[in-house]
Amino acid sequence: MRAKDDITMALACARRCLAAIVLWLVTSPSFAANVLEDIRVHDAPDHTRIVFDTTEVVKYELVKETGKTIIHFAATKPGAKLDTEMVAASRQRISNIQGEVVGQDYRLIIGLKGQLEPKAFTLAPIAPYGPRLVVDLLAGGAERRKPIEVPREQGDRDVLIAIDAGHGGEDPGAIAANRQYEKNIVMQISKRVADKIDGLRGFKSKLVRDGDYYIALRDRVHIAREARADLFVSIHADAFTRAHVSGASVFTLSERGATSEMGRWLVQKENSSDLIGGVGEVSLSDKDPVLRSVLLDLAMDGNRSASNDAGKSVLSSLGRTTHLHKRFVEQAGFMVLKAPDIPSILVETGFLSNPAEARRLSQAAHQEKIATAIVRGIQTWLENAPPPGTLLAKQLAQDPSRAQGTRYVVVRGDTLSQVASRFGVSQRKIREANKLKSDTVRIGQVLVIPAS
Ligand SMILES: [Zn+2]
Repeated sequence: MRAKDDITMALACARRCLAAIVLWLVTSPSFAANVLEDIRVHDAPDHTRIVFDTTEVVKYELVKETGKTIIHFAATKPGAKLDTEMVAASRQRISNIQGEVVGQDYRLIIGLKGQLEPKAFTLAPIAPYGPRLVVDLLAGGAERRKPIEVPREQGDRDVLIAIDAGHGGEDPGAIAANRQYEKNIVMQISKRVADKIDGLRGFKSKLVRDGDYYIALRDRVHIAREARADLFVSIHADAFTRAHVSGASVFTLSERGATSEMGRWLVQKENSSDLIGGVGEVSLSDKDPVLRSVLLDLAMDGNRSASNDAGKSVLSSLGRTTHLHKRFVEQAGFMVLKAPDIPSILVETGFLSNPAEARRLSQAAHQEKIATAIVRGIQTWLENAPPPGTLLAKQLAQDPSRAQGTRYVVVRGDTLSQVASRFGVSQRKIREANKLKSDTVRIGQVLVIPAS
C-alpha cells in the first residue's frame, strides 16, 4: 500500500510539475521576449509617422483595411507603461489605437481619419533609441505637396527665405551634455529667425519643417524650390568628440558635392526646365546634352558664388554676436545644400558637445541674439544683391545709398571714427549714407556702411 501511495503521490507531483512547465512555457519570456515599450507619433504636413519602440528587432505584418491599419507584432507583449489611448489622443490622422494580446503575439488596430496609405519599415538602434518599427501613413492627393505660388514676374514680390530646422522627428541630431536635442534647439532658433524675417518689410519666411517630424534631405530642397525661395538656410548645432570646441560656423556646398549633384540633375530631364526656369528662363528640353550641361554648369557656378557671398555675410554678422569656430565660410558636400538654383547655406549655431555653449543655446536670450545675427547677415547680403522683381530691389533702386553697402549695428564703446576705420570708409561717407547730422552714434543704431 505504501509503495502504491508513493507512486500515486509521485504521479500527482509529476502532473503538477508538467502543468507548471506548460504554464511557464506559455508565459515564458523566451516566447514573447520582445516588448513594445512605447509608441511615438509625429504629424507632418503630408504624412503621419508612428514609431514603435521595441526591445528587440520585431517581426511584423501590416494589414490594410478600409479605415484602419492593423499591425501584427510576432512574439511581442505590450510594455507595462504602454497607453494606446493616450498616444491616439488628438492626432491629425489617427482616430484611435486598440491593442490586443493574441497568444504570444500583440496586435494593434489603428483607426484612420481619411484615405491614408500605410508603409512600414524597421529602423536600426541609434542613440537615444533602440530598435524601432516605423509606420508612415501617407496622405493621398490634395494633402500632399501643396505648392506655394509666388509669381516671379511680379514687380514687388517679397524676398522669400526658406528656413530649414535640421533633423526632427526620429532624428534628434546631436544630443547636448544637458540632454537637450539638437532638433528642438534648432527648431526654436529657426522659428525666431522666421519671425524676424516676417517682421521686415519686403521679406517673407518659409519654415521647411514647422513641427517635430523628419523630412528627407532631398525633400527639404524640394520644399524650398516649390516655395521659390531666394535663399535656403539650414540651421544646426554641432557636436564634437572634444568638449572644449565651441563657436558658430557657416558652410556652403563644396564644388565636388555640387559637381556630382549636377550629374544627377542632368539625368532627371523632367526637372531640367523647371530648374532653369528659376535661373535663366531658358528651357533646356530642346538643347543638346553638351549645351545643357554647360548652361547648368554656369547656373550652378553662379549659385555657388551667391551661396558663398550669403555665407560670408551671415558669418561676419554672427561674429559680432557670438564666438566663431572658423573665421571663414567652410565647404562640405551637405545634401541639403544641393539646390542648384537657390543659394544655400548651413549655419552651425554652436557646439552642443560644449556644456557651456549647450546651456547658452537652450536659453531664449542667446537664441534671440543668434537669430538676430543670422537675419542681419541675410538682410545685408540681399541688400547687396536684391533678387529682381522684388519690393526690395525696387526700394533699393529708389534709394541707392542703401545699396552696395553693409549694415552695422553700433555696440557699446563704438565711435564713428572707429567704425569708419574698421570698414576702411571715410567718416564723411558714413555720415552722408546715413544722413547723420553729427558724429555721435548710439548703441543699437543701424549704420549703412557704403562700399569703400
Ligand atoms: Zn545637425
